[in-house]
Amino acid sequence: MGFKEDVDFARFLSMGVYAADAVTQDLERNHGHRIIELERYAKANKVWQTKVKRMRLPDLMCVSCGRRFESKGKTKLEIKLSDSTLPGRSWRDGGMRLDDIFAFARVDMKTSPVSVSNLVYVTRQSLEDALGSSKEGNRKAVSEGSEMDRRWPMWTPDYAGEVVTVDGGRKKVRVTKGASTYLYGSGSRWDVFHTLAAGTAFEAGQPVAFCFRMADSVACAGDGSWSWKEDLLSADEDIRFPAVKAARFLGVEPVEDILIHIADDEANDWRLRLEAHASLAPTRPASVGALLELAEFADSTDEVRMEAVFSLSEIDSEEAAEALYSVASSTEPAVPEEVRAAAAWGLGSGARKAPAKLMVLTNDPSVLVATHAAAVMPSDLSQECLGELLDWLRADDLRRASTAAHLLAERDLVAELVNSLQTAPEGVRRLIVLALGDASREAVSDLLSGLDAQSRASIATLWAKSDDWLRQPDTDGILDALKLQTLRR
Ligand SMILES: [Zn+2]
Repeated sequence: MGFKEDVDFARFLSMGVYAADAVTQDLERNHGHRIIELERYAKANKVWQTKVKRMRLPDLMCVSCGRRFESKGKTKLEIKLSDSTLPGRSWRDGGMRLDDIFAFARVDMKTSPVSVSNLVYVTRQSLEDALGSSKEGNRKAVSEGSEMDRRWPMWTPDYAGEVVTVDGGRKKVRVTKGASTYLYGSGSRWDVFHTLAAGTAFEAGQPVAFCFRMADSVACAGDGSWSWKEDLLSADEDIRFPAVKAARFLGVEPVEDILIHIADDEANDWRLRLEAHASLAPTRPASVGALLELAEFADSTDEVRMEAVFSLSEIDSEEAAEALYSVASSTEPAVPEEVRAAAAWGLGSGARKAPAKLMVLTNDPSVLVATHAAAVMPSDLSQECLGELLDWLRADDLRRASTAAHLLAERDLVAELVNSLQTAPEGVRRLIVLALGDASREAVSDLLSGLDAQSRASIATLWAKSDDWLRQPDTDGILDALKLQTLRR
């Protein structure tokens, strides 16, 4: 996949990220839970080509009560899950226990900021109970694993109102609709009929009648309601993995020996062992070393390397940052470029930021590593970083100078760019002028008078782009794209 396809896919992933974040906020603020990501990267939209096959577990979990939550965000609110006839791939197989909760939300990506509304919480038990009323979507070919969607019907008026009366026996509900009322009936289509109670106000897009029972309470049962230390000893990996993951939030000290044992036992699944090291690593340098070895070891598979790098990125310690830097700058041919790029990414977007190390990586010969490092440089540059970038504009190295010019222009550090023109070698001067053309026009306008006539003229030419209707964001490249579609035989 090229990076343009990645952008489209990242946009699609963003919807799930916004939903998971809104669900997290609601569960923490309004229901007393303490939510962590059970599925790593459930709340990130970075696209990686190396796919890590993780355990089939829900996105989120509360470390106080141990309840698990699977969040789903769509442009239209629907109680819909992907389903399959393949063993272990049905809608209920994602590590959801009967009282775990599916959280559905409507995500509107067109508003700014993005808005998430109409949260609906349903236990797996309720969906099981209403299975007879659920509907299968189109089933794909058996060769594709018989994947399909399963939908639990509901009625969501597109207007706000209030429930007036509910006649459960005849399956009818009367609601206000503006100045009048509207009578809705599901007929006999739904085996069980649930509605909001009479007297309840509802918002536009909120379900009023539904074939399943909504969760009565999603309140946290509180600390101590989950015996996570016992779960660490379970023989079932679906039970043990969440406890291993939660340990770092609940205090590793009393269970350190158990975690070390899990990490060392070669009979365990690699993901469980890696996660045990990840929980130990913030307080145990040997586990940072173990994660580093997994990332760099000649025999590791690419998914193990990636997961080890992601784990190191979550640890706020100097040792972890050193380990990431070691991976990012590795010259070992067995370590793929993307693993190195992920390590660079972790140094800028992870728990421990290391801008000085990123500066070195922005000059890595690998385009993938250098661009990942440059993209996560902090928006506020330290004096040290800034001084180094200005040095790059004085030297005769066009690659470094380009990097410096881009990083400065992105931050609208226009005065620095203009001043650099005086000391820059000829080739670098042109790069600086190009960068000034990219910086915000307001920022540059004030400083134009300090420029020589030739630079002023060059910048004016670059600005002409905004007068060219075929170089606007929605038209740039459109003629080339259309010419590719003129094939007709
Ligand atoms: Zn809880």
